[in-house]
Amino acid sequence: MSIEQQINQLRNELREHNYNYYILDNPTISDYEFDQKLKQLQELESAHPEFYDANSPTLRVGGAVTKNFETVPHTYRMYSLANSYSKEDLEDWEKRIKKMVDGPVQYTCELKYDGASMSLTYEDGKLVRAVTRGDGFQGDDVTTNVKTINSVPLKLKGDYPDKFEIRGEIVLPFEGFAQMNAERVAAGEEPYRNPRNTASGSLKLQDSSEVAKRPLECLLYSLKGANLPVSTQYESLEKARAWGFKVPEVATLANSITEVLEFVNYWDVHRHELPYETDGVVIKVNDLQQQEELGYTAKAPRWAMAYKFKAERVATKLHTITYQVGRTGAITPVANLEPVSLAGTIVKRASLHNADQIAKLDIREDDTVFVEKGGEIIPKIIGVDFALRDQASRPTQYRTTCPECETPLVRTQGEAQHYCPNTEGCPPQIIGRIQHFISRKAMDIEGLGGETVALLVNNGLINNYADLYELGVSEITPLERMAEKSAENLVAGVEASKEIPFERVLFALGIRYVGETVAKKLAKHYKNIDAIATASEDELTAVDEIGSKIAESVVAFFSEEKNKAIIDRLKHYGVQLEISAEKLANQTNVLEGNTFVVSGVFTTVSRTELKKLIEDNGGKVSGSISGKTNYVVAGENMGPSKKTKAEDLGIPIISEAEFLQMIS
Ligand code: AMP
Ligand code: ZN
Repeated sequence: MSIEQQINQLRNELREHNYNYYILDNPTISDYEFDQKLKQLQELESAHPEFYDANSPTLRVGGAVTKNFETVPHTYRMYSLANSYSKEDLEDWEKRIKKMVDGPVQYTCELKYDGASMSLTYEDGKLVRAVTRGDGFQGDDVTTNVKTINSVPLKLKGDYPDKFEIRGEIVLPFEGFAQMNAERVAAGEEPYRNPRNTASGSLKLQDSSEVAKRPLECLLYSLKGANLPVSTQYESLEKARAWGFKVPEVATLANSITEVLEFVNYWDVHRHELPYETDGVVIKVNDLQQQEELGYTAKAPRWAMAYKFKAERVATKLHTITYQVGRTGAITPVANLEPVSLAGTIVKRASLHNADQIAKLDIREDDTVFVEKGGEIIPKIIGVDFALRDQASRPTQYRTTCPECETPLVRTQGEAQHYCPNTEGCPPQIIGRIQHFISRKAMDIEGLGGETVALLVNNGLINNYADLYELGVSEITPLERMAEKSAENLVAGVEASKEIPFERVLFALGIRYVGETVAKKLAKHYKNIDAIATASEDELTAVDEIGSKIAESVVAFFSEEKNKAIIDRLKHYGVQLEISAEKLANQTNVLEGNTFVVSGVFTTVSRTELKKLIEDNGGKVSGSISGKTNYVVAGENMGPSKKTKAEDLGIPIISEAEFLQMIS
């Protein structure tokens, strides 16, 4: 076989596997095999640039950087949708339709996916352009980024037309969103507010490999083009699905508004079971001929209607606005509400996010506000009932000083959040840093909880995490609620933390943007704290997965004298500031590229040790079995559902002994 044939064969195979995995949700090979094939293709392509293909599956991993997104006109305008909120609205709509078209009208009912709308152009079965909605007439060309989204086919299958556009919505499923946020919070960053904005923000990232890391999905819903081989909307969904697009299966035909309402009522309840956010139903006249007769208003098609789900909403009194200070000094304004029942829970507080948000909604103390629980997890204030506002009320003046230490707040240009710059003297920042240091995933200090940290700081016994190592029992016992026994436990817990491995100590230091994963990467690469402390920004960014934001923050941290002093003290107390020799000796890369799921009870090693062994040898540990799992390590009493799932996916189940054999 010639090189070109090999390359083409690999591309076709990878495309098929990608389709099975992301569109059909039914992988037929393991991730490991997939990665091997991808690697092989990458190597062949880089050795033979003459066979470059702008739609090769290797582009999924990203890498290209877009500095400025070009504005391009849409061939077919991207319209808005008219909204309806009731049965009556829909009946009125039907009456208007029936005046304009003859014969019976059938509808397709689809869900309204809440993400970023996108228009994709395909020529000869290849994705040539992806453009955001923009103002509907023109949008931004984000092709490079969209190519990294696995559910966007780069090359189509079947009897697709030569040239057409397809429209869809790019969404960020809840699970991936929650995971991204957990990582951000652990790294001392503000969590993202909602999946929709995060999805649309992702499309405008300059570095496409960053986009590739985000678990975005593209759900498609309409075709545009000349001479399309379809005569109804429903058919176009089926065709698109056959060409390889991800088209949700829920679309249903309805013969009357009554049937439309059945669909609406069903999904109003069951949408909460979907993996991504939806904010309504879109009803479209099914027959494309009738659609054409109906045409468009200035803003929206007459043949389609969005029916918005009612987000659960209540009105309540906002008593006061208070301000919270986080461990990084970020200030969050909080609305303290008259407790009110909403979507099954009692809501007393809601985040107001930042000064801009308060100004935008003109929220004031003593206002009656509307609180909503939509797709978002935390309830939010969506507006003010101005009719009930007191005449004497004045606009909210955002705090200018820290609520805890009275230091004037600062706000860096381009950032939404205000900060208290008094990192050394501001109690919640001091306490927050120590609480982070002792937390389970960091130093995991037994016998010491978050409240005790506050108690110790407030009584002047500690001021930073190094001080923990000088605490004596006799100092602690005089404190309220600190019996001799608890004091002893605390001191013993601090002592035991000297055994915590370097990578976790590094995470515990609370360097901004250095979350668990980044800490592991840095520890593995540099082996000890001094090497990290003296690395330059350029050297740091050269490390795999370390971006300039992280590098900048690491350099800033180690350039501060007070941090150097604290680290010297930690070293002096015997905290692990380098990878232990034993660990170095035990580290290999034999499991690289493999993801393991651990299930059951083990005999030779504990579960935790087993997981550590996997990571030390370059493997990844995951909590649940999916197409990405390479092996399941099964101990005694492995969960039966895990077993069936592994068997269904054809993932090898290995014993503890077999695993140990793999790394020996
Ligand atoms: P709006 O932004 O409220 O005017 O709603 C129009 C937008 O809804 C479109 O631009 C699409 O991005 C989005 N949308 C989501 N799901 C669908 C769907 N199934 N059919 C049509 N549009 C949809
Ligand atoms: Zn402060």
